[in-house]
Amino acid sequence: MAATSRKKSGRRGGSYRTCAGCRQRNLRRVSLRLVRDSAGKCQPDLFGKLTGRGMHLCPDLACFHKAAEQQAAKRVFRQASEFGQPQVLADAFLSASIKQIESIFSIALRSGWLSAGRTVVKQEIKRGRAAFVVISQDASASLSKEIKGLADKNKVTWVEILSTKVLSKFHKGKPLAVLAIRHRGLARRLTDETSIAIKLTESIKKYINNNPQLTAKSVRGKMRDQRAG
Ligand SMILES: [Zn+2]
Repeated sequence: MAATSRKKSGRRGGSYRTCAGCRQRNLRRVSLRLVRDSAGKCQPDLFGKLTGRGMHLCPDLACFHKAAEQQAAKRVFRQASEFGQPQVLADAFLSASIKQIESIFSIALRSGWLSAGRTVVKQEIKRGRAAFVVISQDASASLSKEIKGLADKNKVTWVEILSTKVLSKFHKGKPLAVLAIRHRGLARRLTDETSIAIKLTESIKKYINNNPQLTAKSVRGKMRDQRAG
């Protein structure tokens, strides 16, 4: 068994990892990984740089909770392990994912593969040059509807993520509600990374809604503790 699970998979798209929470298999590139440090604590492998045996999870807070309840870390690492707080870990992955998304936007901007604003993005979609479209979460309803409709019609992937203010970083500081990426490779990376960020965000929201004793504020408080440490 060890031999098959230790294939040199690298970052290849075709390899799968089983979630330690729900036991579902996910493509490696959309699966989250944690390693056990020498003190026995699980550390999120935020940028794919930590070595050693890994524990894999869906980008879903529910799976983090399942892993904690089932003591999955002990099972995976075959020794006493401290998993940590599910929300804190999920938030660390979410922050890292958003960082990755922004860094892909930066690369696209620097190399001239980013188109910004309604008029230009519409043109690029119609010309078949847009590979990936991003609509800010606070875009106007009419803009959002128009771009989504046009993207769907032209079979271009779109996501609704981040805010007009965050996207302004890629538009010389001017508010930006819609952008398009014209580079296929960057678009593929964005497809994976935004799916992680969106699934994590939704699962965190859902968890807070299902557990009214947890306010968003108290969860964010816990998250701050982790960042400070
Ligand atoms: Zn899972």
